[in-house]
Amino acid sequence: MNRRNFLACAAITPLFANEMIQDTDDIYLSKEEWELLVSINARLKRVKRQIGFGNFNLVSYNDTLFYARNYHKIGAFTKKEIAFIDKLFNEDQNQYGFYGPKTCFDINNKVSRKEVKKIPRTGHYIFKGKPLEDYENLIKDVGDTLILTSGVRNVVKQLSLYVNKIYNCGGNMTKASISIAPPGYSYHTVSDFDVGRKGWGYKNFTADFASTYEFSKMRKLDYIGMRYKKDNSDGVRFEPWHVEVI
Ligand SMILES: [Zn+2]
Repeated sequence: MNRRNFLACAAITPLFANEMIQDTDDIYLSKEEWELLVSINARLKRVKRQIGFGNFNLVSYNDTLFYARNYHKIGAFTKKEIAFIDKLFNEDQNQYGFYGPKTCFDINNKVSRKEVKKIPRTGHYIFKGKPLEDYENLIKDVGDTLILTSGVRNVVKQLSLYVNKIYNCGGNMTKASISIAPPGYSYHTVSDFDVGRKGWGYKNFTADFASTYEFSKMRKLDYIGMRYKKDNSDGVRFEPWHVEVI
């Protein structure tokens, strides 16, 4: 066990202490990295608050750095934070047990508003073309109890989800990358989207979604796929809610 990590995280996530004992093969952040992660997580949350949930789904990395420099409420990212973000984006993910392909090689990837459609009352966007066609056909074929729970996620949005997941996993990188693709590895950045059952809240992001009427109806449709099946070779958990655009 890495005692430094234990000391750094135990106070924040009590569960972490047990996980440390059970998962000794897992890879954890160093103490310095943990501190950078905590401040990056908080800063990204301030960016989201400043520009709004919808804009945060699309914002580029360069624009994020610009907003941070110019809004004193956010505060500029430090050199060390930027270097750590670069590391998270560029490092070999196989070491953590994530084997999916890279979907986006440019940390400063831009998503134009012309490429996407905002879906009313969701705060989410879907790429025009096949993804949007699939979404509209899904609502038609499954019914309006099916809702969009996550659409286009540019690199920064994916980074924020990843960083927040690592935070909630007490710095356990191995555990984090099972439940969320690292930035640059998410299909949300290029095509895919998540759906759920109206009124189901967080349960839409659990295996329970596979027991819904909506899911059973979706499985019979041949124009969409299921990106993360049980025991998939990418090393990602079972995600019945994640629609693969084929
Ligand atoms: Zn997804």
